[in-house]
Amino acid sequence: MEREITEWYVEQISKHVVEALKKNGFNAYFVKSGKEAVNKVLELIPKNAKVGIGGSATIRELKIPDILAEKGCEVIRHDVPGLSPEEQFQIRRRELLADVFLASANAITLDGKIVSMDGTGNRVAAMAFGPKMVILVAGVNKVVKDLEDAIWRIKNVAAPMNAKRLKRNVPCVKDGMCKDCNTPDRICNILLVLEKRPSLTEYHVILVGEELGF
Ligand code: SF4
Repeated sequence: MEREITEWYVEQISKHVVEALKKNGFNAYFVKSGKEAVNKVLELIPKNAKVGIGGSATIRELKIPDILAEKGCEVIRHDVPGLSPEEQFQIRRRELLADVFLASANAITLDGKIVSMDGTGNRVAAMAFGPKMVILVAGVNKVVKDLEDAIWRIKNVAAPMNAKRLKRNVPCVKDGMCKDCNTPDRICNILLVLEKRPSLTEYHVILVGEELGF
């Protein structure tokens, strides 16, 4: 019973956010599970497309890059082990000009704004301009009330966990709370707020009724 009520609530709040995203010019969809999200991504991406992958725990968790490679897409990703810093840099530049860019958002507000923050900026750059199509997959855990909550979530939920994953030497890794650090390893340097769809980019946002990513 409790589970059914939770699922009902998640669906209601997600539908509200999807409508708000649509009003802001994004194509937006609610799906119940990660599996359905993968199917939606596969439906949207043309065969043989060049697909850039933004650093995203959500996309990795759903194993989408491997599935796309099996489908015949050229997958461009800088987050594979063993690459030199120079190789990663060059791949990040290629991701910016992919046919499709696939990533997640750090937060989506109830009124349909998409909020993300990067240390390097390649992901937020591609989310704003470059690839012809952007597809974002976000778990319902990314939904927040407003812009202020979005920035709080990024600095005190997403960034500490990402910094821990990336083994960064930053204060939030010690206790999970942002100290607005001034360190070379800082991962919160560039804030992107998509209030409306970037005018030259085809945009798809898939909101998933499960907790995914950071
Ligand atoms: S500003 Fe620094 S301390 Fe704060 S979340 Fe970002 S990396 Fe962590």
